[in-house]
Amino acid sequence: MLVADYHNHPQAHRTDLPYSLKTLEPWAKRAVELGLKDLAFTDHDRYKDGVSFEEIENLRALYPQVKFRAGIELDNDPETSAEGRKWVEKNWDNLDFVLGSVHFVKDFAFDHPHYIAEYDKYDINDLYKEYYKNIQQIAKSGLVDSMAHLDLIKIFKFFPTENLDELYSETLDVIKDADLSIEISTAGIRKPIGNIYPDNKIIEMAKSKDISFTIAGDAHAAHDLSHNYDKLEKLLRDLDIQEVAIYHKHQKTLVNPFV
Ligand SMILES: [Zn+2]
Ligand SMILES: [Zn+2]
Repeated sequence: MLVADYHNHPQAHRTDLPYSLKTLEPWAKRAVELGLKDLAFTDHDRYKDGVSFEEIENLRALYPQVKFRAGIELDNDPETSAEGRKWVEKNWDNLDFVLGSVHFVKDFAFDHPHYIAEYDKYDINDLYKEYYKNIQQIAKSGLVDSMAHLDLIKIFKFFPTENLDELYSETLDVIKDADLSIEISTAGIRKPIGNIYPDNKIIEMAKSKDISFTIAGDAHAAHDLSHNYDKLEKLLRDLDIQEVAIYHKHQKTLVNPFV
């Protein structure tokens, strides 16, 4: 088992699952079952109204064997992210960890199968370029600790026809300058792309720039917690990643991922 899972959605994109022991306890039980030591709750910022720091505190009292981190996934939703940013600013001291992510390019939700026809309207290289510029913007916001699923734009297997290595390198430099981590996530394994986010090439590039990593499964249900972590563990070993980042009140500590 690996030590941490820093991307989880207890509210599962629903508004009828605000944080309560009923919502959160299944995650705690599953974490104990798996031997997971450190777990961050990171619902999307558009579900911020369901987040309760008090209920996370109650969970901590009941399950002291697991570290529960209060987090949020802040994205660039054209409709909700302005409010999300305000909420993060206001609750900064209550939050341990903020994930930054990009789910919109050209104002469409590119990772949603419902909008897949939108891709036909644009040049794929332009979409990649805009995507990474959006990533850079969020990385520079001063409101995030780690960047989620860094190459999410590959989700439906539309690949750039140009070599974009320079753009990846520039993006990682922005992330490094902001002292952020990047996420290595198993979420892509259950998507059409069928592989971990981000690509090994980007992970190796980040490693060479001495950028730290958070690890995650992006579960939307407790039984999916740390899904495919055997594959993630293998990847960390293959790429010789011996430290991962954990966060308490935005303070980063590097720990051995293998427990
Ligand atoms: Zn996401
Ligand atoms: Zn997510």
